[in-house]
Amino acid sequence: MDLQKNADRISNQVAEAALTANRRPEEVQVIAVTKYVDVKTAQALVQTGVRHIGENRVDKFLEKYEAMKEEPLTWHLIGTLQRRKVKDVINYVDYFHALDSLKLAQEIEKRATHSIKCFLQVNISQEETKHGFSAEEIEEVIAELAKLEKLEIVGLMTMAPIDATPEELKVLFQKTQDLQKRLQKKQLKNMPFTDLSMGMSRDYSIAIGKGSTFVRIGTAFFE
Ligand SMILES: *Cc1c(COP(=O)(O)O)cnc(C)c1O
Repeated sequence: MDLQKNADRISNQVAEAALTANRRPEEVQVIAVTKYVDVKTAQALVQTGVRHIGENRVDKFLEKYEAMKEEPLTWHLIGTLQRRKVKDVINYVDYFHALDSLKLAQEIEKRATHSIKCFLQVNISQEETKHGFSAEEIEEVIAELAKLEKLEIVGLMTMAPIDATPEELKVLFQKTQDLQKRLQKKQLKNMPFTDLSMGMSRDYSIAIGKGSTFVRIGTAFFE
């Protein structure tokens, strides 16, 4: 496993996908998802120039944060968060990607001591197994979310089904972008909706083609 080589390959592919879509490579941030590796490997990865770290579980997030909090890093919690764990973690988080209920949002409002940038997780493909709001539910919930002062809703996050074909991925990511643009136009307070968190190791080039601004990449860094 050559971390520098993998990191270079990923940033080249991100740049290429952006340019192909007539976008600037700087518009896309790469989040290195370190959930597969220990602290030492994550520290080595940071030496390659990675600036965004993502973890999907609270315990592992805290372990990496504790070890690397002095580094100039942006911290992303990308996985489902149980309400009872909000108080343990939320104040170390820069971006939370998996906001999937109003109750969770209210708990974050109660516990956060600074503004937390949040993505609403959407389940565009309507998979039973996936968390997240449907497009209709988002329209209903945003009025309530707008009342919360500590949450800044920066955009939408989606996860594609593992068996989706490239054609299906394009449709899914396009629908997510269409919804993001619609919500952005509403110009709601504390809800810029400027960002899209979509694309993982298998599908980030497609996601960048559909406007993704944060790709969450694990496997491709560590193969
Ligand atoms: C693990 C994980 C990723 C990264 O997936 P890879 O396929 O390993 O790139 C992205 N997002 C979430 C929410 C994850 O849990």
